[in-house]
Amino acid sequence: MQSMPDVRPGLSGVSTAELAAWFEARGEQAYRARQVVTALWNGEANRVADLTTLPKPLAAPIDSAYRWSTVADDTVIDADGGQTQKALHRLADGATIESVLMHYPARPGQRARHTLCISSQAGCAVGCPFCATGELGFGRDLETAEILDQVRSALGRLAAGERLTNVVFMGMGEPLLNLDRVLEAVAALNDPDRLGLGARHITVSTSGVVPGIRRLTALGPQFTLAISIHAARDALRDVLVPLNRRWPVAEVVDAARDHARATGRRVSYEVTMIGGVNDTDADADALADLLRGDLAHVNLIPMNPVAHTPWTASPMPVIERFADRVRAAGISVTIRRNRGVEIGAACGQLAGARAGVPPVQAVAWRRQRLEAASAKALRGERSDEPVPLGVDG
Ligand code: SAH
Ligand code: SF4
Repeated sequence: MQSMPDVRPGLSGVSTAELAAWFEARGEQAYRARQVVTALWNGEANRVADLTTLPKPLAAPIDSAYRWSTVADDTVIDADGGQTQKALHRLADGATIESVLMHYPARPGQRARHTLCISSQAGCAVGCPFCATGELGFGRDLETAEILDQVRSALGRLAAGERLTNVVFMGMGEPLLNLDRVLEAVAALNDPDRLGLGARHITVSTSGVVPGIRRLTALGPQFTLAISIHAARDALRDVLVPLNRRWPVAEVVDAARDHARATGRRVSYEVTMIGGVNDTDADADALADLLRGDLAHVNLIPMNPVAHTPWTASPMPVIERFADRVRAAGISVTIRRNRGVEIGAACGQLAGARAGVPPVQAVAWRRQRLEAASAKALRGERSDEPVPLGVDG
């Protein structure tokens, strides 16, 4: 028999004010809320009963109203000699999501960095064909606490003296299609009473949800915006990022440009480099033309192998040539090294929740369709496929 999912709200997603009201309603002091919030983030407790600041009789009522953590049974897998760690988190309803912790040792002139890549949804509705999460389809939006508890789980795995330096929304899901929760989570990460991470060290990555970008800009703080651009030409981008059929690339870049102006911060443009598909000279030149003169930085990432696609990463010399052509337009470019490829833990390549293996016939058909679609796009013809379901602004 299946047990009912645990529906108690996760403590990390509850505001201090709400928690204070909860205590007051029970005739307790409001400052207790702050003690709980501090304990959630300082890593000294594993459950409410461990809180030394709290009177013992309060633990049981808190536990029956709230959950200490919404992610459980975390399975951690190491790669890159321990420098990359993928965590699989099981949620109360059985959904699984993933986060990736990446350690970058100190270098001359630069302190060690510890970057956590987190998920915002279980699955994703956008359906980019080179992305393992896209292949899963949409599961559900994550709750604010489920987003934040990935971070708390990672904090518990840092060594003494280490602290998280960056949090990036580049795991499973499209953060701007779960924007209310993502914004609550971002505010908590930024809050000095919680994680206290500077806005600049929090990156929100999007496949191009224009209304979401504009909402993020209107908020004001200098969060880093990353745009998964992948192609500067609509015909090809329609295939690689299906929501391009809803918000074409020029509209996305317009919104990103306004964000850069409003915040004074460079926007990152991510290009997953796919051999023979989006790595041609024409693609490099189109990208250079589109971004010329902007506050922009381009990251080129060799595609991580994903089952059931006909594609592989562009060879390194091709990526370097692409980078040089974009740099010639005065735009800074970084070629990023893959992390955790052998365990499928490259940031943005997460799909531990894959449900079974699709039939051979379906895989063959998918490959054929993708090959035909990209060939058509390379001839400059637009896709006639519909906008993916569940994508609307
Ligand atoms: N949905 C958001 C954020 C999560 S994906 C977005 O698309 O921006 C994070 C990044 O990983 C994106 O830039 C995405 O394009 C990239 N990515 C997905 N699959 C990949 C793969 N197989 N190889 C390399 N990068 C990939
Ligand atoms: Fe979704 Fe991002 Fe994957 Fe595209 S790349 S399917 S938007 S998670």
